Amino acid sequence: MKVYIINTGSCNGCDIELIAAALDKITDDPKEADILVITGGVNRKMRKKLLNICEQFEGKIVAVGSCAISGGVFKDSYSTNQGIDDIVPVDFYIPGCPPSPKIISSFLEGRDCENIENFRGIPKIDKFKCTGCGACSLGCPSSAIKIKDVDYIRQIIINYGDCIYCGECEYNCHDNAINLSNKPCNASLEKDNLINITQIKLSPCRLCGSYFIPTRQLDQLFEKIDDEEIRYYLGICHKCRSNIDRIKRAKEILSE
Ligand code: SF4
Ligand code: SF4
Ligand code: SF4
Repeated sequence: MKVYIINTGSCNGCDIELIAAALDKITDDPKEADILVITGGVNRKMRKKLLNICEQFEGKIVAVGSCAISGGVFKDSYSTNQGIDDIVPVDFYIPGCPPSPKIISSFLEGRDCENIENFRGIPKIDKFKCTGCGACSLGCPSSAIKIKDVDYIRQIIINYGDCIYCGECEYNCHDNAINLSNKPCNASLEKDNLINITQIKLSPCRLCGSYFIPTRQLDQLFEKIDDEEIRYYLGICHKCRSNIDRIKRAKEILSE
């Protein structure tokens, strides 16, 4: 099997690991390659070259690294694309920043890579500890974690294709609920397979009934506060609370 690498704006991190994993398989002629590997978020200058090579290529196209998959740390910058599949069809995605050579060589040998000792692999959430606070999302430098409320469920969505495996989420989580495991994220045929969703239950507002705070977060607050009045107000959503304040203020103004 022969591999041709196109660096479309990579920092060279992915390329170095590719060379470590596949030195004997690399060719400098795309015509004799079976696999075309693309590293880096595609910058404007490389876009045309990438299209020219891919148009004549009949083998598999593989996006290596979070930059190639989604733009990675360069996502939303003026000069790069948000993932190469906006430009050319991709057959496989190999996440990482960069992916370990063990993940790449396992892929080339057609098998999955098992856990790697001392490796900073995929972040995993312990759903029994997570309070759904969102601190991991706020500190994530590549926007790999998103928080979404759907009805009475808060979703903590991790996109391993965006993740740069920096460990910032682990550092920011005060509940020790998210940790980087030594499990690698193996190559995937579908981008959707790189997404992991943790679901946390929300509690309804005492006044309007809309779901607004994770139940576990509320329980934690109740454990610390035994003042009944404060506990009552903690169960009221921000919108209703602001209305109560406005009513109070209006009464004050009217009585002045
Ligand atoms: S994914 Fe990381 S290592 Fe690879 S090119 Fe992008 S920044 Fe560099
Ligand atoms: S994993 Fe930690 S930081 Fe992220 S939402 Fe859960 S508790 Fe908050
Ligand atoms: S390790 Fe955590 S903070 Fe870092 S990019 Fe991945 S999800 Fe974001």
